[in-house]
Amino acid sequence: MTIEEALRLGAETLQACSDTPRLDSECLLMQSLAVQRSHLYAWPQQALSELQQSQFNHFLAKRLTGQPIAYIRGWQEFWSERFVVGPGVLIPRPETELLVEQALALSSKHLTDSELTVLDLGTGSGCIALALAKERPNWRITAVDQSTVALDYAQKNLDQLAVSNVELLQSRWFANLSGRRFDIIVSNPPYVAADDAHLIQGDVRFEPPSALASGQDGLDDIGLIIEHAARFLTPAGTLLLEHGFDQAAPVAALLADQQYGGIQQIRDLQQHIRVTLAHRPD
Ligand code: GLN
Repeated sequence: MTIEEALRLGAETLQACSDTPRLDSECLLMQSLAVQRSHLYAWPQQALSELQQSQFNHFLAKRLTGQPIAYIRGWQEFWSERFVVGPGVLIPRPETELLVEQALALSSKHLTDSELTVLDLGTGSGCIALALAKERPNWRITAVDQSTVALDYAQKNLDQLAVSNVELLQSRWFANLSGRRFDIIVSNPPYVAADDAHLIQGDVRFEPPSALASGQDGLDDIGLIIEHAARFLTPAGTLLLEHGFDQAAPVAALLADQQYGGIQQIRDLQQHIRVTLAHRPD
């Protein structure tokens, strides 16, 4: 079977289970052959080896059960780096790059050398903490997660990206951080409403519910973080949260209730407010 034939077979097979069968077929073939996309189009007549063909068939069969591409191939790109992921850890989303951008913007260019302490709550694969660590080698970053499975992935990613300024710690939110203070606290917590229909569709069905859903209105964990973060921020410290596109008003209200100041809400490219930041109450 040639590359061209494999791509076509893959796309036809995956029509039954995916909205993006051609793209999925390309991703899985790239992984089976260990090549870039350009190779698939430069060498359409290249024959697959037996091993490559059986690998590709194996991947297609997994995708047919609904498993996310990122879990099947074992990685997802975020902030131009590859992060190892698999069952038990949230797959990094492109929208979370907005949170990273906003955290980086807190140190203006001439201050990039200053040593800020940063906490990433619910780090999952470690994508936020490690993106920040790459960009700001002088920041000292602590990344926590309640899940030891997630922390295992974060550790793999830490090793692969060879950063030395990230410390991983098992903790349910602030539980194991008593007495510590941070200049910046970032979090992409679970924020989907427990009965949201999209939790039982598509790729998210395979991701850990504890990383996605948070009570009836999706705001349980965000509320908890806002309530406790003040005690863990330095006096001029900043809290940055990712949240759902329709949660801007309730998140701002929760922050105002707890006397946070300088509340700023940031729009993504689709003009949705997906990130809110605020300063520690005086
Ligand atoms: N944005 C994700 C989704 O809609 C949710 C991630 C999260 O809850 N932090 O699936």
